[in-house]
Amino acid sequence: EVILEAKHVTRRFAASHGRTLLANNDINLKMYKGETLGLVGESGCGKSTFMRFLVSLDTPSEGEILYRGTDITKLKGEELRNNRQNIQMVFQDPTLSFNPKMNIRDIVCEPLMNFKKIKKSEKDAVCRKLLEMVELPGDFADRYPHNMSGGQRQRVAIARALALEPEIVVLDEATSALDVSVQKTVIELITKLQREKNITFGFICHDIALVQLVAHQVAVMYLGNLVEVLPGKDLDMKAMHPYTRALMGAVFDINMDFSKPIESIESEAPSPLDLPQGCPFQGRCEHCMDICKKENPKLVEVEDGHSVACHLFQKGSK
Ligand code: SF4
Ligand code: MG
Repeated sequence: EVILEAKHVTRRFAASHGRTLLANNDINLKMYKGETLGLVGESGCGKSTFMRFLVSLDTPSEGEILYRGTDITKLKGEELRNNRQNIQMVFQDPTLSFNPKMNIRDIVCEPLMNFKKIKKSEKDAVCRKLLEMVELPGDFADRYPHNMSGGQRQRVAIARALALEPEIVVLDEATSALDVSVQKTVIELITKLQREKNITFGFICHDIALVQLVAHQVAVMYLGNLVEVLPGKDLDMKAMHPYTRALMGAVFDINMDFSKPIESIESEAPSPLDLPQGCPFQGRCEHCMDICKKENPKLVEVEDGHSVACHLFQKGSK
């Protein structure tokens, strides 16, 4: 069941010297009920720019984002407020969004105080329940953020995001600052919450190996463009775009198909301000052809649920 659909979402930012930064270029994506969409790519590729539209932290220059049929990029007033309950976001460093003078009880219950006007007397029980949901002891309600580890604070951030029982939770590099072993436990928690509550997750991450662990659907972005969308389980064997394959090549995996060449990313990505004409990946691509320097390839479906934007795989091209 599709619950969210982005159509032709484009975001331009004005930059110095009259230049324009194209942070999102005609993005088309769907999110499905109870599934995780992994959005992967290097920092600055436009992943966060896109997901911020979902929680109304920004609006696209063009295009629409339909959540259960309503364009959430045009919401105002009460409707905007309601949307804040349906879609929540968790960021990389929760300490930045936590008031250090507030204890965990107040932090976790803040959205409920704002939106549901729960009574002070109810807070403790509600907080304990939410903490248990993220597998933290109920007693942590009396602690302060600085008395907790990074992984524990991230669990608190997830508990707070879940307080309003949203249908979609966007995690923006939410595990990136954590140790690898702690990352795994947070990933397990996300999987468990999804199983229990049928939550739809948007998982933004620069680490494709981590995305592969959680995402039903993986969307790969490069310099503002969506270059490949495919089922997470197909990343190993079916990734086609040279950029996706390069990202995967950087992940050592004994299941990889070594019969095909694995490209490595040699040069640095160009600035999104000075995008070349044609394919944005041309400067780093071993397969670059003449047409790649002229036309930016469209995202085309190659099989059910798998789309790729590369001239190597466009109909009629050789
Ligand atoms: Fe490489 Fe051309 Fe494909 Fe771009 S369109 S990824 S340059 S082959
Ligand atoms: Mg980001």
